[in-house]
Amino acid sequence: MERYKRIFEEISQHSIKSLGDKGAVKLRKLGIKTLYELLYYFPRAYDDRTNIKKIGDLRGEEYVVIKASLLSVDIPPTRSGLKMTRARVTDGTGMLELVWFQMPYLKKTLKLGEEYIFIGHVKRGYTFQMTNPEFKLYKSQKQEQGEILPIYSTIKDLNQNALRRILKEAVATYSRELTENIPEEILKKYNIMGRDVALKEIHFPTNPKKLEDAKRRFSIEELLVLEMGILQKRFEVDLKNIEIYTLENKKELVKKYLGNLAFDLTKAQKRVVTDIYKELNSGRIINRLIQGDVGSGKTIVSMLLLLYMVENGYQGALMAPTEILAVQHYLSVKEEFEALGIRVELFTGSLKGKAKERMLSELREGKIDIAIGTHALIEESVEFSNLGLIIIDEQHRFGVVQRKQLRDKGVLANLIVMSATPIPRSLALSIYGDLDVSIIDELPPGRKPIRTKWIADGEEHEKMYGFIEKKLHEGRQAYFIAPLIEESEKLSSKSTEELLREVQEKLPDFRTGVLHGKMKNSEKDEIMHAFKRHELDILVSTTVIEVGVNVPNSSIMVISNAERFGLSALHQLRGRVGRGEHQSYCFLVSETENDNSKSRLKVMESTQDGFKIAEEDLKLRKSGEIFGTKQSGISDLKFIDIVHDVKTIKLVRDICMEYLAANQGRILNPYLNMDIDEKFTDSIKG
Ligand code: ADP
Ligand code: MG
Repeated sequence: MERYKRIFEEISQHSIKSLGDKGAVKLRKLGIKTLYELLYYFPRAYDDRTNIKKIGDLRGEEYVVIKASLLSVDIPPTRSGLKMTRARVTDGTGMLELVWFQMPYLKKTLKLGEEYIFIGHVKRGYTFQMTNPEFKLYKSQKQEQGEILPIYSTIKDLNQNALRRILKEAVATYSRELTENIPEEILKKYNIMGRDVALKEIHFPTNPKKLEDAKRRFSIEELLVLEMGILQKRFEVDLKNIEIYTLENKKELVKKYLGNLAFDLTKAQKRVVTDIYKELNSGRIINRLIQGDVGSGKTIVSMLLLLYMVENGYQGALMAPTEILAVQHYLSVKEEFEALGIRVELFTGSLKGKAKERMLSELREGKIDIAIGTHALIEESVEFSNLGLIIIDEQHRFGVVQRKQLRDKGVLANLIVMSATPIPRSLALSIYGDLDVSIIDELPPGRKPIRTKWIADGEEHEKMYGFIEKKLHEGRQAYFIAPLIEESEKLSSKSTEELLREVQEKLPDFRTGVLHGKMKNSEKDEIMHAFKRHELDILVSTTVIEVGVNVPNSSIMVISNAERFGLSALHQLRGRVGRGEHQSYCFLVSETENDNSKSRLKVMESTQDGFKIAEEDLKLRKSGEIFGTKQSGISDLKFIDIVHDVKTIKLVRDICMEYLAANQGRILNPYLNMDIDEKFTDSIKG
């Protein structure tokens, strides 16, 4: 154990001789401080001469090793003035173009007609192309046959060979101190390579098969540390949970409330509600994620769950990410609930002083049945007398860490989170590994698809205003969204003021309000309510409007600088319209020339299906950037590509569940426990 801990200490010249004087400082530039980080600094590619690819066999984007001879090399003039060295090579099956930036000396280094090994990422343009590939003269084949050399990401003053030397020493000296952190029975059952062997193989592979096994091992290990940590919390809760809640399954108030509702629940809403009622009755504590696309009617579902809990003797809490949303939720049920004899109160940041104290003590005494608020509700000072259910709306704003916070506070209530960021189920399982998932996969009937148009030039822009004017005269309302106001962005994007000026100039006959993040909460509320009551026709707003706001009469959404938003944000924003009986329209205003942005806008024009959009989103982004994964510890996964590695994700989840069940929720391998602690303290700090 002591020896294992040493691995987490800082590296010095004493621990690695080949570091030399400045070595430790240089490694820091690569983000390596400890031996652990050094040993886990894995190659980003391999110079694998056993596995050379033919140019004629290239398909999409991939990391490859090519053996080809040089046909030409030049430094063509570029518009930007960047020095670009361009080479053309062939291996007899096809041609490949290579470019390097800011390395003009390559023109002299590379020799026409010579054979080289090129290693890098190929992309498909009008021809296949590699940018900044590594290369090496291909000498006699015998000399290096079968050798697979690691290629590390390097920096200028620490070259490939130096880094290889350092790692060679580190692996030889310390691989055995990296004690196995995957429980023995799991290794055996799933045929996973041992840690020290895998470490040697991942840095200096003896053959391609072993390299694959080593990669598999570290993918599993990486995910296992995360999932075990998350799932163990859940097991702890489950085990403590022997009949904490006993419900009489009363449904009288629920029925009355439903009877007064202007519409019937959709099948999906009914299914989710009934399933959860059942689960609440099972005595088991609930940890559940409800996913439903924007407008699928999650609010009513949450209210029915809260109502049920209250009717059966417990308090409930509903937390929203913004004050506006909390107020909206509160107002949507206040009257009806009070008519049923249920007391609902609003807890937000603006509740202060005496009033706050009084409400807090009433909550503590159980006089308040349902508390609705922002995350102010998880503050230290808030206590309930008999809390039975916590619902967190719009989960992507609340990370794993917040949930852990609630649990660590000893809050043993049932926990339900609701999210409108649809992600594939398998991905949901990995990100929210401790949650079960319910899906509301149906929109209320009668919704007309939102007509979406990308407005790309001035002429269309004029027409758009004409069209909106007509709709406003017909009695509809409109949102105009400007990107966030930030000092640094003032020049390049329309702030709300600028947009307001434009809107007032083009649509002078209508009542216009403004909403942005710098306003006081009370001001925001006032504007929002005025818009809801149709005392305003137009709302010019930043993305504060993004999540959850519900004004069915508002049927027009205009998003300026639409290229600046990610797909899920655009989808959320568009989801503010299409909520009532009227045909709704969404205009994406953008003059972008960027291909990726254009693709996003086209996706928005072509579909309204949140799950499809999420999938496209995943394709267009790198996995680390997925909305909401930052706080979840997922974003620093180096090995697993959470978008494509669904099978491994599922395997690891099964492994963890099985292991925890067999060991009553305990993790018996101390090294695994240490790694979990490291991981979670890291992500809480970050
Ligand atoms: P979200 O899932 O995005 O939170 P909301 O709960 O805000 O959606 O619901 C969107 C709108 O749909 C609201 O105006 C709500 O009253 C309405 N609604 C919800 N369920 C139904 C239903 N079963 N039939 C008709 N309208 C519904
Ligand atoms: Mg909502």
